[in-house]
Amino acid sequence: MSYDIYGNNLKRGHCEVHPQVAEEYPCSLCYQQDESRNRDKQQYNDMGRQQEKEYYEGMEREHYGELAKKNNFLYPLLCVVADFLTKWLKKLKIKKS
Ligand SMILES: [Zn+2]
Repeated sequence: MSYDIYGNNLKRGHCEVHPQVAEEYPCSLCYQQDESRNRDKQQYNDMGRQQEKEYYEGMEREHYGELAKKNNFLYPLLCVVADFLTKWLKKLKIKKS
């Protein structure tokens, strides 16, 4: 005599997880539950991947935002420096000639 997972007597040819099902383990209900579990897992994984993607995209946006901010600060500074250098070079040329 075998027993089901609940410790009850199991009739021959019945699923031990689903003693009410007259099929040996794994029965069709087992497969069904397995399938829906896998589906849930798949959905969960997809959700996780989506969140991960959004997380990294957010990081990237932030990163580029920071860069843009720095550039916004650096660009006028570079213009000033370049302006100064061209004037200085002109002066130098005038002095030489
Ligand atoms: Zn079963």
